Amino acid sequence: ATSPDVTQSFILKHEMPPLPSGSQWAVVWEYDASAEEWTRGMIAIQLESRPFASGALRSAYKLTTKMNPTLYTQAFYRDQHSQYEEGKKLNLRKLPRLFGPVDSTYVAKLSKTTVSFERYFEDVKMQMMCREYGIRYTANSPPKPVDFLSAWVIEVQADKGDHKLYGLEMYIDGEFKKLNSNFGSVFGDRNTPQSFSHFSYEASAHELIIVDIQGVDDHYTDPQIHTKDGEGFGAGNLGEKGMKKFIESHKCNPICIQLELPPIGIDLNDSRNMTRVIRGTMMLPDLKPDLDPKLDI
Ligand code: ADP
Ligand code: ZN
Repeated sequence: ATSPDVTQSFILKHEMPPLPSGSQWAVVWEYDASAEEWTRGMIAIQLESRPFASGALRSAYKLTTKMNPTLYTQAFYRDQHSQYEEGKKLNLRKLPRLFGPVDSTYVAKLSKTTVSFERYFEDVKMQMMCREYGIRYTANSPPKPVDFLSAWVIEVQADKGDHKLYGLEMYIDGEFKKLNSNFGSVFGDRNTPQSFSHFSYEASAHELIIVDIQGVDDHYTDPQIHTKDGEGFGAGNLGEKGMKKFIESHKCNPICIQLELPPIGIDLNDSRNMTRVIRGTMMLPDLKPDLDPKLDI
């Protein structure tokens, strides 16, 4: 896949500050999930040449920034990110402060196989949508907040005038754990990740479910969305089949009850069950005795 030489044209069109030594310019795209809008800008990066970690699909490189990104407005939506209009320079102070302070460490994720540029944008959009669900979940005062890392797409100049895209997010120190899969598997005995997936299903009126929960503590990254129609969000979107797998294996836990999520795995077409749920006398499988936050280990 190729892309227009946006980095060079950007540098020529805008008056850029001097590049800190050892840095290179990259184009950065930020997605606003509530406005469904992308913003583009420039960022000075230092990118390590060797990956520090690797998953099934992507290699992860450490990246640092030596200055705040300069963001520009740009009117493109959906699939038109490579055909944007040149926009007005934004007042940085008015932007949501998604970037960390100067000198923060980030992770740049490069696909191990050749994928379309679109894939990078879809992945970032998916994670930023999940971030909105995390904010909504946390607004319901669960024992522990859920925080999906903000993600960006960056475009970096490579050899021979070529360009590479990476997914970008903050580097999180600590033990990286996978907590559920996109096919009904549950790992470990944490309640928060499982309740969050259940929450996403209810909060979207069963239109989607967020799974593949993984990260450090409750700082999540690299999620997967299954949608009712199975459209969008890459090959990991297993549609109704994926939703069904979650429903079959999920056991509601005290956080699901606290958030008043309709119990999963109980046939509400059975009028006796419906009566029990309404009266609050439905017996749930493996229910822990109370809602002590310490129960979510
Ligand atoms: P894949 O798409 O192949 O699953 P991941 O997004 O899981 O790739 O990233 C690969 C590996 O990089 C992870 O298994 C983890 O060890 C590490 N990693 C990913 N994101 C972060 C992060 N934000 N902070 C620290 N380490 C990370
Ligand atoms: Zn539940």
